[in-house]
Amino acid sequence: MSTEGKGILAVISGFSGAGKGTLMKRLLSEYGNDYALSVSATTRAPRPGEEDGRDYFFVSKERFEQMIAGNELIEYACYVGNYYGTPRSYVEEQLAAGRNVILEIEIQGAQKIRRQFPDTRLLFVTAPGAEELRNRLAGRGTESAEVIGQRLKRAYEESAEMKQYDYLIVNDDLEQAVSLIHTIITNEQNGNAKENAASLVSANAGLIDRMQNELFSFSKGE
Ligand code: 5GP
Repeated sequence: MSTEGKGILAVISGFSGAGKGTLMKRLLSEYGNDYALSVSATTRAPRPGEEDGRDYFFVSKERFEQMIAGNELIEYACYVGNYYGTPRSYVEEQLAAGRNVILEIEIQGAQKIRRQFPDTRLLFVTAPGAEELRNRLAGRGTESAEVIGQRLKRAYEESAEMKQYDYLIVNDDLEQAVSLIHTIITNEQNGNAKENAASLVSANAGLIDRMQNELFSFSKGE
């Protein structure tokens, strides 16, 4: 069925350190008119440079639990000790207005979204290798060694779920990755999904297996 003219709901997930945040900012600055990016609520503390209402809505655990109880979130998940969730009203309004909506969320949330909105396209972003991922995480200097270890362990767990995604984006070159995401979503929107064949998860099984093996070694502290 062609979805021409309708907005697409796209979920972007990926390993911590894969560069999703930077990719999303660049996608919005280059193709801002085409996308509505949902801002999530979280109980984690802001990193230096992050702004409330732009990067996240930074809320207390009590407020987050009120949002859950009030059905204000379309999905939420716990990730490495903090809550993260997607506010319902913005997503519903933007989809109703026919815009492409992007959620940058982790995999448990992605699965919940796909159950509620079966047409959702799921994109997974990875660094070209696990070593590179570890270097990027350590290089950004915003997490303790302990949290980096937890995030790498979580990345190994997440790697088992990558095959449930539709597309794999290897974030080696930022500009190329941004343009690939835009092309994939535009093709989906115009009913030309066949042109995205090279980016399908099923076409990248070798890379996924290699990532999983490397992350397994790291998660054991090797
Ligand atoms: P970070 O702390 O690095 O900003 O985000 C940690 C993880 O939470 C990332 O994988 C990010 O995609 C995910 N995340 C951010 N917002 C949401 C959300 O609203 N829901 C879910 N399920 N995950 C989220």
